[in-house]
Amino acid sequence: MSSSGGIQIPERLPLLLTDEGVLLPGSSSRISADSARNMQLVKSRLLKGTSLKSTIIGVIPNTKDPEHDGEELPPLHSIGTAGLAVQVVGSNWPKPHYTLLITGLCRFRVVKLLREQPFPLAVVEQLDRLEQYTEGEQLDGELGELSQRFYQAAVQLVGMLDMSVPVVAKLRRLLDSLPRETLPDVLASMIRTSNTEKLQVLNAIDLEERFKKTLPMLTRQIEGLKLLQKTRKPRPDDDKRVLAIRKGGIFPGRQFSLEEDGEEEDGDDMVVLERKVKEAGMPEPALKVCLKELKRLKKMPQSMPEYALTRNYLELMVELPWSKSTTDCLDIRAARVLLDNDHYALEKLKRRVLEYLAVRQLKSALKGPILCFVGPPGVGKTSVGRSIARTLGREFHRIALGGVCDQSDIRGHRRTYVGSMPGRIINGLKIVGVNNPVFLLDEVDKLGKSLQGDPAAALLEVLDPEQNHSFTDHYLNVSFDLSQVLFIATANTTATIPPALLDRMEVLQVPGYTQEEKVEIAHRHLIPHQLEQHGLTPQQLQIPQDTTQEIISKYTREAGVRSLERKIGAICRAVAVKVAEGHKLSKTESSSEQGAASGQEREVKGVDSDMAAPPEMPIVIDQVALKDILGPQIFEMEVSERLTLPGVAIGLAWTPLGGEIMFVEASRMEGEGQLTLTGQLGDVMKESAHLAITWLRSNAKTYQLTNIAGCADPLEGNDIHLHFPAGAVTKDGPSAGVTIVTCLASLFSGRLVRSDVAMTGEITLRGLVLPVGGIKDKVLAAHRAGLKRVILPKRNEKDLEEIPGHIRAELDFVTASTLDEVLNAAFDGGFPAASMTHSQIASKL
Ligand code: ADP
Repeated sequence: MSSSGGIQIPERLPLLLTDEGVLLPGSSSRISADSARNMQLVKSRLLKGTSLKSTIIGVIPNTKDPEHDGEELPPLHSIGTAGLAVQVVGSNWPKPHYTLLITGLCRFRVVKLLREQPFPLAVVEQLDRLEQYTEGEQLDGELGELSQRFYQAAVQLVGMLDMSVPVVAKLRRLLDSLPRETLPDVLASMIRTSNTEKLQVLNAIDLEERFKKTLPMLTRQIEGLKLLQKTRKPRPDDDKRVLAIRKGGIFPGRQFSLEEDGEEEDGDDMVVLERKVKEAGMPEPALKVCLKELKRLKKMPQSMPEYALTRNYLELMVELPWSKSTTDCLDIRAARVLLDNDHYALEKLKRRVLEYLAVRQLKSALKGPILCFVGPPGVGKTSVGRSIARTLGREFHRIALGGVCDQSDIRGHRRTYVGSMPGRIINGLKIVGVNNPVFLLDEVDKLGKSLQGDPAAALLEVLDPEQNHSFTDHYLNVSFDLSQVLFIATANTTATIPPALLDRMEVLQVPGYTQEEKVEIAHRHLIPHQLEQHGLTPQQLQIPQDTTQEIISKYTREAGVRSLERKIGAICRAVAVKVAEGHKLSKTESSSEQGAASGQEREVKGVDSDMAAPPEMPIVIDQVALKDILGPQIFEMEVSERLTLPGVAIGLAWTPLGGEIMFVEASRMEGEGQLTLTGQLGDVMKESAHLAITWLRSNAKTYQLTNIAGCADPLEGNDIHLHFPAGAVTKDGPSAGVTIVTCLASLFSGRLVRSDVAMTGEITLRGLVLPVGGIKDKVLAAHRAGLKRVILPKRNEKDLEEIPGHIRAELDFVTASTLDEVLNAAFDGGFPAASMTHSQIASKL
């Protein structure tokens, strides 16, 4: 394609029509491609896969209606510039487009348009013959004279600029080394010229004509600069600004920041950056890369898009804490006190955390598992993480992983994109400024997956002690040692944590709190904290224990304490208003003190009369005040109300947000024996329902179950509808089996299920009850809902140990290994088969 000294462009060129100015040979320009044709050209000619294939394309200024973007190709300007695409950047904002950096090579004329779709392709004739240029030699005759004049003007112009700016110095050198023939194009694209003028230069195929066209533009620019310098008397501190204005004037369209004082000159700037690079304490390979990039940067004109890219990169590199760290100050006894002070309850978790820290202390480089706290929201997982950082005297940083589905979120984007960034790990390190912080990887169970690679795989690398001493972020492209970082993860459930990741972690379950624990947490931590946040004191606001109980049971229903904390916050805000109003009153009405002392009511305009008197301190929040502030109760005791018909039973469900009670309702009507299930159910749940029906039908006689008409097959001539109300969340899992059986048994027998009983357990076709998970959360939920009896699978008996003593004391646990036992416990006075002994049933099976 290119012969020595000259350029031979292909005979056929794809054409890019641009509304954005005129590209001239010898200069580079950024052109945005957003029309369908141009995008297509970029995609099929310039991008192959993801790498850029350098290709020559024809750039033609769109001289016609710029709005013209219809199906038809606008009439083409016959002369264009063949250019080499050196960079392509894609973006979706504000609409999909590519930005191309194109270097103009030579003029061409469109000879014949071959096709218009998907992008125009034309046979072209090359107009500038670069190989015929004289390289530094003088031209002869009139042309020679003209070019000499032009050259001198150019030298004069450049001479008026500040030589210490690298671009200017480079331009000066270029003037001497470039063939004279190219100067009109090069200078026309640099000085302030309009697009029409540039188009004239483009159209000037004849060299002599081109010189004649550009010379006046050059002189005009020189005059302009002279005028500018005359009007501004150079004061020492003006220098920088003159420089900047000159830059701005001579290179139109380029963004030189006109920063005020404090901006160091380019040269100095580089020196400072270089010093920073050397002082950053980087390891050898990183330092090498930085010095290399710095060298490149020094040679680069600031207008190049790569300049900013490289500069940002270097600035990040020097900011990273390569060798900055905090010293651990771990004292296990102090750590215990601190953890206890920060958190009430959570005994098991705190014990394990202390063990972990103790081992760390004994064996300073611990390559142990990563701790992963798993539990419902608001149970203090983040807060324990923060305490760990405090006990160690380390920096703390939380990295939210919820919804992250692109691995470059973790590992960064390669530096080829404009706007590419390092990943969250490196970014976190930059924020904390030390290389041994505590990183809390929040919500690892909510990592997504997408075409952009699996973030879990990237995270694995981060967490693997064998690998993470040389973690390579795509953006940095050199490795960073993460081995000193202490990682802790949190999740709501282990079910959705990618298995390989789960394997790396030690799971510590953090179950929900009991009512009593919540009251304690509220009074020890949440209330004092909220008071402080709202600028209140205990002398101004008091929340008695009864009120807290009320908030917990009537205004929140959660496993953790997050909405409890919010409600307390709401109370504080309401009180803060009263207190502030009290202040205002006592300030504006200085005599009011006497009035208040004598018990007189005062009227204040515009303020509710009950707020008129400064509130007596402290304000105590009783039930009435609570209702005023938080509104009517959100959760009523609905249990007894709903169990007034046969065909309703209460199950216990486990959700990532903690345990919940779940009503199962059934009804029947005449039909053909069909089963309808509603209420957002998963497949496992549907199977349980079928199992339950089959078992009940096969045991209908034993339990005296009938259909509406009293027939022994409960399904005959009946349709059954099972519904799982409450919440739009999908319910799944086998643990509702016993509840469905009980609910249907109630429906078929017409008897009510005891209103104070809840149950959980998986069933088999033969009527056995199998163990299930999440017992502690489920039992706590039953207790929260005020139920008295809990029916559990026998094999879950061991899980009862985890439940606090006082709760165990308040509940009546029935453990069952067969459905018969379940039904007996669920109905008052047992179920009809109660007389049958266990062994009789077993023999029946
Ligand atoms: P999570 O990370 O589990 O969703 P957070 O750590 O954000 O929950 O806790 C929510 C709030 O509840 C925090 O203000 C925290 O201090 C408080 N909190 C939770 N558990 C306890 C506890 N056992 N003792 C004291 N405060 C707690």
